[in-house]
Amino acid sequence: MEPRSAWGAKPPKSTDPLPLSKVERLFIHYVGAGRAPVGRDAEAGMLRSIQADHMGKGWKDIGYSFAVGQSGTVWECRGWGVVDGATRGQGGVSLSICWLGNKEVPSDAALRAIDGWVAEARNRLGRDVPVLGHRQNPKYPGETDCPGDEMQRIIDGGRWTVKQKEDSFMEPKVLLRDKDQRIWLCWGIFRKHVPTPTQVELLKFVGVQDRTNVDSTALIETLSRVP
Ligand SMILES: [Zn+2]
Repeated sequence: MEPRSAWGAKPPKSTDPLPLSKVERLFIHYVGAGRAPVGRDAEAGMLRSIQADHMGKGWKDIGYSFAVGQSGTVWECRGWGVVDGATRGQGGVSLSICWLGNKEVPSDAALRAIDGWVAEARNRLGRDVPVLGHRQNPKYPGETDCPGDEMQRIIDGGRWTVKQKEDSFMEPKVLLRDKDQRIWLCWGIFRKHVPTPTQVELLKFVGVQDRTNVDSTALIETLSRVP
């Protein structure tokens, strides 16, 4: 993580404090013009020109909370504790990171850097907020192509999707006895997840067809009718 001074940021005209308790989601953006800068010096230069462009439009500062380059460097822009200006209608309830690219494929280094940024954000927030592309802005969905098809494909692929914690579907446990007097320990087919082979067998036994999205109440009702 490089501080603003590392890219020669001008001071903001003003800042609005962002209480992290208000942050509901993280947005990924892209530059969407020209070519991705190669190397840290070129990335820093691009950030200076983006800042000049944004402040030239009357914004308080560069719009993003952070930026990330193909080099794998995360650059501080407005930072953690400041309302950003990158995503319409989402200032004060989100944080943003701009990938410094356009038509390119995001580099492994850039993606790993975003991994780290997302992890740090969730750690600071103390909760697993979702990661969305700018085009997924819930207030203005589809109003932009940002963050580009390549990056959006990675977002849609689930790289930053919150994983179900192992122990959250280990609970609650239900003991069942089937018609052959076998005892089954039924652990949590209560959330959307891919069931284990044992669970698949159990679900077959109770006649549940859709094995990927089982409603717990319906399942318990079904199971309670097992002789
Ligand atoms: Zn954007």
